[in-house]
Amino acid sequence: MMQSIPQAKWLSSLLSVAMVLFSIGQVAASDGTPAKQLFGGKKLPAVMPAQAVGFYSKGCLSGGIAIATDGPYWQAMRLSRNRRWGHPELIKTIEKLSSDAATKDGWPGLLVGDLSQPRGGPMLTGHASHQIGLDADIWLTPMPNRRFSAQERESTSAISVLRAKSVVVDPNVWTDAHGRLIMRAAGYPEVQRVLVHPGIKKKLCESWRGDRRHLNKVRPYYGHHYHMHIRLRCPKNSKGCRAQNAVPADSGCGKELDWWFNVALKPKKPAKKTTKKSVKPSKPKHMMLSDLPSACAVVLNSAAPASEEAVTYRTRGSAQTAFVPVKPVESPFSMPALVPIPKERPFVQ
Ligand SMILES: [Zn+2]
Repeated sequence: MMQSIPQAKWLSSLLSVAMVLFSIGQVAASDGTPAKQLFGGKKLPAVMPAQAVGFYSKGCLSGGIAIATDGPYWQAMRLSRNRRWGHPELIKTIEKLSSDAATKDGWPGLLVGDLSQPRGGPMLTGHASHQIGLDADIWLTPMPNRRFSAQERESTSAISVLRAKSVVVDPNVWTDAHGRLIMRAAGYPEVQRVLVHPGIKKKLCESWRGDRRHLNKVRPYYGHHYHMHIRLRCPKNSKGCRAQNAVPADSGCGKELDWWFNVALKPKKPAKKTTKKSVKPSKPKHMMLSDLPSACAVVLNSAAPASEEAVTYRTRGSAQTAFVPVKPVESPFSMPALVPIPKERPFVQ
């Protein structure tokens, strides 16, 4: 026993040298490596207080939690992407929306698309935003009355609400419940804006008979006819979160919408032919770690939760277990070895 002590000391000092070398290696690895690869490579969140850091399209997330793969009124899709992470306020809002939609709006439940990566940051594919754990894509396809298998969550496609090859809503797909779902989300004070295709905005402008005060928060944008994009305001305790400009007070159903249909969505004229000489080779510009708020380097290099560790967050003054690491769900996909899933908790209304 006595002999094992020096050995243990030797081992622990070797371990600390290895850890220093490892962290130097990590810093070196960030040189020249695009931030999307650094953040895209993280399978688990940083165990730190929950903070949205920076701007929606230039930042990161600490203390993120994952939305459960299944709730009473939601199913998370595309599990293999590992983009089910968000600020606890976002997870809470999605849970609340799912419940409100199902019990008040005739929308059977949410199919939840991309939120953020475990530590936010730029993504390897798609999405300029979704970087600080406050953005969520919610499919405009109602949840079926059964649970999708893991395979179906990868392969099932969302349904566009637009008529094929057009910019107007398809009356065979669109229902009043679509409108109620979107306006429910827009009505939440914590929601800063909801992005939808201009065709959807037009439909709401023409048909929404409820409270129209929040129509201004429904913002037209390209794409977004398979899903809507919900964006939360900066949470109060996220001091490093940069707010987006307020939405205009006007409903946006007039001139602004006209511009989308008369200008933005008009088919583009073919670009003038350019001779080879005039084409300047452009260097692809990747966002680097140094482009993000400096706190994001700390978030990137912070410890992930250990297998025994539970991470807590506070809601209504009481600490609750936000997630506990569980064994990977049985699935034919390559899931992260350790996928934390929130424990069941009461809905916050
Ligand atoms: Zn989105």
